[in-house]
Amino acid sequence: MSRFFSTKYNGLTPYTPGEQPKIDNLIKLNTNESPYPPSEKAFEEGKKAMNKLNLYSDPECKILHEKLSEILGVKSSQVLCTNGSDEILNFAFMAFCDKDHPIVFPDITYGFYPVFAELNNIPYEEIPLKDDFSIDPEDYIGINKNIVIANPNAPTGMCMPLSDIERIVKSNPDNIVIIDEAYVDFGGESAVCLIDKYDNLLVTQTFSKSRSFAGARLGFGVACDSIINDLNTIKYSTNPYNINMMTMFAGYGVLCDEEYTKKNIREIINTREYTVNELKDLGFSVLDSKTNFIFAKHCEKSGEYVYGKLREAGILVRHFDKDRIMDYNRITIGTMEDMKQMITVLKNII
Ligand code: PMP
Repeated sequence: MSRFFSTKYNGLTPYTPGEQPKIDNLIKLNTNESPYPPSEKAFEEGKKAMNKLNLYSDPECKILHEKLSEILGVKSSQVLCTNGSDEILNFAFMAFCDKDHPIVFPDITYGFYPVFAELNNIPYEEIPLKDDFSIDPEDYIGINKNIVIANPNAPTGMCMPLSDIERIVKSNPDNIVIIDEAYVDFGGESAVCLIDKYDNLLVTQTFSKSRSFAGARLGFGVACDSIINDLNTIKYSTNPYNINMMTMFAGYGVLCDEEYTKKNIREIINTREYTVNELKDLGFSVLDSKTNFIFAKHCEKSGEYVYGKLREAGILVRHFDKDRIMDYNRITIGTMEDMKQMITVLKNII
């Protein structure tokens, strides 16, 4: 730390992203990326940005907002694109939380939430998941604090029904409820259909998973106009050009090829079901996943052992050093070939 670092960041522990190692022939199943390239349309449209790079990108992000709103069935004024959904989550923490408006979230969930809270000096409370790793909606009913829930949750992969989400939103009318739907396309129920009914709901999604766009950094939020206006105030006070020209054009291309996205989602779900069955045969218990990853623990071998042995074999998964989940590994669903290779390695290990 330099002697100039502001004391307001004393004790801030930054988020630890999953590794991005440059190892030849590595099977990379550690950061929930898509194993498939983005749609050809993304390449076609993205190229059009190249000779415009002397100009700033459109701060209103018009082409993306219009296309997205058409797909989601909302008004374009109800959508805001950001540099990954991490950015809109941070904007929301900045916009709606402070020392008088604390936030709550599950004890086992996306590791960035406590970092956003600490960064912005926001008091937070972690509510334990049930023993089966599900979220108990009753814990959040009328809690009268801001709430962020990943649905499906990460790293468990488990999903809450929309009816429970609605009960939570409805019972906390004076607080913001953020539903982080980064993985919703793989089997969850989206809460976007509730935004006209509740002015305290913000739904966030990402292009990083189902749309094969993690490296392009594109996420978005959907909410009533007034929430989007507040988020825009934060955006225009930090980085009005938060979506770069290439991502804006290529992202538009992605949205013009919904068929390709749907085909990849189907493929990932099929591969997930295959992997779950094979893992169960090998003595793993696997939580019910509605995402592009699974959370699995072996009946005898420790999580660290499985992680280490897979790594030796050139397969990278994610292991968390946190008490309740140390026995587990989070395994991203790759191609069918990737998963067959992982199962072969596991058969030798176990
Ligand atoms: N929410 C959850 C639950 C995630 O797992 C991730 C991905 N790490 C994100 C949000 C952020 O994704 P991105 O910034 O790539 O949109």
